[in-house]
Amino acid sequence: MKELTEAEKILIEKYKIHVSAGWKRLVVSVLKKIEKHNKKHPDKKIECIYCKEKWGRCRFEIYDNSTRYIYKLTIKAERKSGHICEFCGSKGKETELDMWIKTLCAKCAEERKRKILDGTLYS
Ligand SMILES: [Zn+2]
Repeated sequence: MKELTEAEKILIEKYKIHVSAGWKRLVVSVLKKIEKHNKKHPDKKIECIYCKEKWGRCRFEIYDNSTRYIYKLTIKAERKSGHICEFCGSKGKETELDMWIKTLCAKCAEERKRKILDGTLYS
């Protein structure tokens, strides 16, 4: 996976986003569009955006000044996250492991299975 640039890392910090490494690039693409929106509409700035993993997808929540455009943007990104490995950013798919649904590539799924079996996942 391509490393994020310094500017992209700063963007993630600015919005205080905490998502797994594999989804950071996807989140950055959304944040860049939000920054553009904020420049265009300084009176309707979006300053607060939450991202979290739920049922194997990256969910976005925006409370202030959200528009139809922004809403569509986040829905699209959520759908995309269902095909991107949450941990490494490779192509992934929904995988059910130990009662959790995660979007993972084959390699990360194997790794996680192994950790579940030997009990090191939650330690
Ligand atoms: Zn992976």
